[in-house]
Amino acid sequence: MGWKTLDDMDLAGKIVLTRVDINVPVKDGTVTDATRIERIVPTIRDILAKGGKPVLLAHFGRPKGRVVPEMSLRVTLPTLEEKLGRKVAFVETPSRAALEALPPETVVLVENTRFAPGEEQNAPEMADFLAALGDIYCNDAFSAAHRAHASTEGVARRLPSCAGRLMQAELTALEKALGNPVRPVAAVVGGAKVSTKIDLLGNLVEKVDHLVIGGGMANTFLAAQGIDVGKSLAEHEMAATAREILTKAETAGCAVHLPKDIVVARAFAAGAAHDTVPADQCPADAMILDAGPDTVAALIDLFATCKTLIWNGPLGAFEIEPFDAATNAAAEAAARLTAEGKLVSVAGGGDTVAALNKAGAADRFTYISTAGGAFLEWMEGKTLPGVAALEG
Ligand code: ADP
Ligand code: MG
Repeated sequence: MGWKTLDDMDLAGKIVLTRVDINVPVKDGTVTDATRIERIVPTIRDILAKGGKPVLLAHFGRPKGRVVPEMSLRVTLPTLEEKLGRKVAFVETPSRAALEALPPETVVLVENTRFAPGEEQNAPEMADFLAALGDIYCNDAFSAAHRAHASTEGVARRLPSCAGRLMQAELTALEKALGNPVRPVAAVVGGAKVSTKIDLLGNLVEKVDHLVIGGGMANTFLAAQGIDVGKSLAEHEMAATAREILTKAETAGCAVHLPKDIVVARAFAAGAAHDTVPADQCPADAMILDAGPDTVAALIDLFATCKTLIWNGPLGAFEIEPFDAATNAAAEAAARLTAEGKLVSVAGGGDTVAALNKAGAADRFTYISTAGGAFLEWMEGKTLPGVAALEG
């Protein structure tokens, strides 16, 4: 962990360029989910408390280097002000002089960084321009750290830099789960497709003691072992890749856990008639929509022997009942072990977070990453340019 935090920085009288992710959902000109805004409040408060002037840099949508009025960050201002409990100055075209002229204790929001073509290109001129605006750079946008953009990477290389509180929490949790975990470590990887998660599986088998494969992805692995999976979602063209991953796991001493029993149905619909059968007995006209109770029981036993758990991807079609049963039961077990202090549990991924929330388990996990793409790239073992720039 070569990065600094706000505690390491002297911010008194300084302009602190603060990269945040407030790319929030908006409908009819109103923010419909303020989670991302709420999560950056501690960083802004701490900068103010240390005498710094926070100047927020953020993107919004994909304007592709042009000014697109509908993608103005202005729409986030009322929510930002409400959550911070203070006025926020909005600046369309920032200059050092204009920022200095604002009274101390002012929070500033700069217009969408992606209106400038240099942002996504990480153009040196754009990074120079941003760096000249401030004295210190603070990155609180882990969820944008997998992109090497001027406001996430270039500027960090030009100013004394540190992680904001949200970035700090995320990096600390991720380090605990995969960087330097207490063993044994189990990873649960589920979801729809192997093809979107090959790199992730390949990285995990080298790092964890147990790899639990669930969801549609498990169907591909079962099929690759010659099991008939009927009409299940499965990527038959990925059979060789699946077998390679199994071989790699064996070499690395990672135990792979596939479903022992499965829940099958003829329709992908809530309440569809269903059966539980052994994993090699899927009827030709049925599809596997969830893991069965024996699989879940074994999984819960496995969790109890582990000290660390990292989770991406639901174990079944969790959106439709009763095919959420395995995901719910496994999530509950992980949450309970975590609450009892026996397990460090970290989870991430769009559908995973939704599934764990639905299971009522998310708030007992050690850490839930909402970072999406950045979380997955980190699970793939990739260097995130925004984080690397903080370390450099
Ligand atoms: P995340 O967004 O957390 O990375 P994914 O997008 O990879 O997760 O996977 C989630 C999707 O996988 C869900 O829509 C879920 O319905 C689907 N899924 C899981 N198991 C199955 C299955 N057996 N058959 C069909 N779809 C499945
Ligand atoms: Mg998804």
